[in-house]
Amino acid sequence: MVSDYKEILSDSAKGMKRSAIRELLKLTQKPEIISFAGGLPAKESFPLEQLQEISAEVIATDGAAACQYGSTEGVPELLEILAQRYRDQGLSFVTKENITMTTSSQQGLDSVGKLFLNRGDKYICELPSYLGALGAFNSYGGVGVGIPQDEQGMSAVELEKTLAEMKAKGEKPKFIYLIPDFQNPAGMTMPEARRMEILSIAKKYDILIIEDSPYRELRFTGKPQRMLYDLDKGEGNVITLGTFSKIFLPGFRMGWVLAHPMVIDNFVKAKQNTDLCTSAFLQKITVKFFQKNYFDANVKNIVEMYRKKLEAMLGAFEKYMPEGVTWTRPEGGLFLFLNLPEGYDAEELFQIAIEKNVAFVLGTVFFVNGKGKNTMRINFSYMSEEMNIEGVRRLAESIKELYAR
Ligand code: PMP
Repeated sequence: MVSDYKEILSDSAKGMKRSAIRELLKLTQKPEIISFAGGLPAKESFPLEQLQEISAEVIATDGAAACQYGSTEGVPELLEILAQRYRDQGLSFVTKENITMTTSSQQGLDSVGKLFLNRGDKYICELPSYLGALGAFNSYGGVGVGIPQDEQGMSAVELEKTLAEMKAKGEKPKFIYLIPDFQNPAGMTMPEARRMEILSIAKKYDILIIEDSPYRELRFTGKPQRMLYDLDKGEGNVITLGTFSKIFLPGFRMGWVLAHPMVIDNFVKAKQNTDLCTSAFLQKITVKFFQKNYFDANVKNIVEMYRKKLEAMLGAFEKYMPEGVTWTRPEGGLFLFLNLPEGYDAEELFQIAIEKNVAFVLGTVFFVNGKGKNTMRINFSYMSEEMNIEGVRRLAESIKELYAR
């Protein structure tokens, strides 16, 4: 090993941390543990038989192209399918020139950091926000400025206040990072009126919005709220990140960016310098999955599955949770957020819970201001309905023990 190994690391590398969640997941992977900690889609949602059939077809009919390098933007048929899906949802102004593939949303987030953040640059995020995004932005030296949420997501009042204060100091954040649908970690969805308010504040202060949208299609109840990209009419104030991870297969590592063509050009350059292209083989399998009309049926299946898992979990919360505990009631997605009464520490609870073989993620890791010590993120998609119920029962027992200490 070279003697100055630690010193020769770049400033970015010196600032990088391992993901608290990924580290925690290692702890929770013992088979006897009921884990609400990860954000994993259910194994039963993977359409393995259809994949077997389609993979063979792609190899037989288009094998060489599927195994070749592809264009950075992505397989044109897939870009067209995605554009058409947006048009079908009323975004009539979207064409495939507005879309470029990513090696899943995490690469989209990394590109956002690479494209917009110099060391010390500020960006706005929710309190709490997605840890993977905070980690990606942090690795480029970005500094998160947190805006509290209410039951409708990021507070527009607090956002405006913060932006006005920053402006008075001559500061301007590079972007506002939001997860408007079934937020990770808190689970709530931002109503359209709030989206409009946030968009108009962003326009007033001339700041880009990054709309991270992995869960939008996983709606179990209620009415879809228009995307920020839609409300902006594609005028360039919003960059949306999409992914197949939660509506198809996380292992395919396939996502996309929806943005103004000028912005798309920057994302393409960022990706070219990172991994050249996303696997053409996997994109072609996905195209066929759409062409055979398997895609929407598969999403419907996932929605039904998760709706039941969430119902089971919420029922168990009502039944078992002691006084003082509150939780969000998401209309879709993968997560809900649990609050212990003020003053109680979720980390202390974690020690008790792990003894009872149930795990969750400490909410505090999602807060850029270090708050949220009494909060927890709970995933409901991965375990079975029965395990969701049993896990909540054990969690409730753990909370009662914590209260008694
Ligand atoms: N953004 C959010 C809000 C997420 O929850 C996740 C995954 N948990 C991602 C992005 C990254 O997902 P992927 O890279 O699998 O598309």
